[in-house]
Amino acid sequence: MEKLGFEPASPRSTVRRLARRASYDPEQVFAILDAGLVAHVSFVHDGHPFVIPMAYARQDRELMLHGAAASRMLEVGASGAAMSACVTILDGLVYARSAFHHSVNYRSVVVLGRAREVTAEADKRAFLDALVDRFSPGRSRLVRAPNAKELHATRVLALAIDEASAKIRTGGPADDAEDMGVPVWTGQLPVAIRSMSHIPTPDDAPRFPLPVRPRGVD
Ligand SMILES: Cc1cc2nc3c(=O)[nH]c(=O)nc-3n(C[C@H](O)[C@H](O)[C@H](O)COP(=O)(O)OP(=O)(O)OC[C@H]3O[C@@H](n4cnc5c(N)ncnc54)[C@H](O)[C@@H]3O)c2cc1C
Repeated sequence: MEKLGFEPASPRSTVRRLARRASYDPEQVFAILDAGLVAHVSFVHDGHPFVIPMAYARQDRELMLHGAAASRMLEVGASGAAMSACVTILDGLVYARSAFHHSVNYRSVVVLGRAREVTAEADKRAFLDALVDRFSPGRSRLVRAPNAKELHATRVLALAIDEASAKIRTGGPADDAEDMGVPVWTGQLPVAIRSMSHIPTPDDAPRFPLPVRPRGVD
């Protein structure tokens, strides 16, 4: 893969605590972004930092976001202001012998960059299709495409993945030798997003095949 700007990491996107868990490898960063479902996007408005949860899809080196044309976050982003986004996948809870060594297993990415507004109709449509397909692969071909009014009411931003870091923790607790005699269960509780049975709408949904589950949802 062609080198991206975040390999090697810039000083401000370098993980400092437990740096051995960090990665600046674009393939690893992209794999986590492609496995996640929610990005927490941050921006500064009127001098105050805000964080907003958003659906997203990665397209090449950009994190694509969308919302109402009047959305404050999208307005700030469209102005070219600096933003960051964090995607976290919780993989497990880690139980140690000491309170201090309890931990979580996770895969996370922090992206720093600036966004551009996507205005070309074909590009907007391509992203909105990708987002629908993120809910269920192939679904954008089955549903009615956005009409002109809906497209107009929707703002699409592409946040450049200029600088990014991944951090990954796996495995069991890292207990201290002097705690090994503490009489308590230790180990991991793996966790994942689990879907349950589909709940059809009462009209005609049962006549059609169920949507395929998305990546990252068991
Ligand atoms: C999983 C998930 C995915 C989402 N995906 C999208 C998306 O793709 N596009 C989209 O436009 N919106 C999405 N939303 C909704 C999004 O988080 C905002 O609520 C939405 O953008 C509307 O913001 P606003 O313009 O009303 O408020 P803003 O002007 O952005 O925020 C005003 C204030 O409202 C409060 N607030 C706003 N949103 C939330 C929230 N979610 N939870 C708690 N407090 C909040 C905060 O105090 C914030 O400072 C998603 C929410 C979730 C939880």
